[in-house]
Amino acid sequence: MTPFLSKLAASLEPYVPGEQPKDRKYIKLNTNENPYPPSKKVTDAIAAAAADLRLYPDPDATQVRTAAAGYYNRALALSGGDAVDEDNIFVGNGSDEVLAFIFPTFFKGKKIAFADITYSFYPVYSALFEVKYDLLPLKDDFSIDVDQYVSGLAPDIEGVLLCNPNAPTGRALPLADIERILKANPGRFFVVDEAYVDFGAESVVGLVNRYENLLVTQTLSKSRQLAGMRVGIAIGSKPVIAGLNAVKNSFNSYTADRLGIAAASAAFDDVDYFNETRTKIMATRQRTTEALEKLGFDVIPSGSNFIFAQPPAFSHEEGVTDAGAMFKLLREKGILVRYFNKPRIDNRLRISIGTDQEMEALTEGIKKLL
Ligand code: PMP
Repeated sequence: MTPFLSKLAASLEPYVPGEQPKDRKYIKLNTNENPYPPSKKVTDAIAAAAADLRLYPDPDATQVRTAAAGYYNRALALSGGDAVDEDNIFVGNGSDEVLAFIFPTFFKGKKIAFADITYSFYPVYSALFEVKYDLLPLKDDFSIDVDQYVSGLAPDIEGVLLCNPNAPTGRALPLADIERILKANPGRFFVVDEAYVDFGAESVVGLVNRYENLLVTQTLSKSRQLAGMRVGIAIGSKPVIAGLNAVKNSFNSYTADRLGIAAASAAFDDVDYFNETRTKIMATRQRTTEALEKLGFDVIPSGSNFIFAQPPAFSHEEGVTDAGAMFKLLREKGILVRYFNKPRIDNRLRISIGTDQEMEALTEGIKKLL
């Protein structure tokens, strides 16, 4: 380590993303990517945008905000939420970057709280932006203790991160519970990370113009097949989005590039493909859950494009073995899932939902181990 690092940089424990191995071809069920390619309308839009790459992109990514508002308003009309417009929407380079902007904009110098088992980037950003935090333990079934959020938050907590559906558990919190929490805490700022919401959970986007203490993040990486493109969104009340823009424009004006803007706009417009692919993934998730339960797994009900499953004990040359061993043995068979060697969850595997064919290969591979 070079002695020239700042004290802060020297102290960081960076986030470790799921691996993208190059040594052989794997069935990749470890990073919650979408198994289907982007829609033809998206790839056509990217090709057309490439011609203008000598020009800087629109710093406000207006085309994406218009397309996103159009999509949300159609969905909100169906679910009874309040409409949003362009000024309710912020665009960043993946929702990880959106979250990174959120920390200095709303949390710097304050204390926040999030679940003990949730997206592992939250403590990393907290360290980078020197934000203190409390961990709120999930219940034994990995659900959120709603009453604790409603009436049990310590007086010094000024912000809360809620991942819904939660990662890596996949469990979803109903909209009514989130609204109860927002109402009970008008002086605290809530960020709801909806990276996986399109796979069967209820979005709170329709509440942002009712609750100024709410900011929602979403991503094009999962339900819209654009993990490789890096586009993320935040949806909030207009003053909240204005605050986020002030920080963004003090750091990097061009968070979304021309290809990302073209791709994300086309992806928001192509609702048919979005619905077709997410419906397929939810059906595959159901079949996979049933197949694994038959094999003795305990599977948490999931509202996301992954499941969090506890394998039964099984014997192998090394003796009776567990999730960590199953992770290693599946990897040797060319099947990659995610294993977190952490308290409370080291007996489980997080398995992304792939195509039916990929999930059959997974269950066949597991059968051979059992
Ligand atoms: N939130 C959660 C809960 C996630 O799992 C991820 C993906 N690792 C992200 C946000 C960030 O996704 P992206 O930066 O690709 O938008």
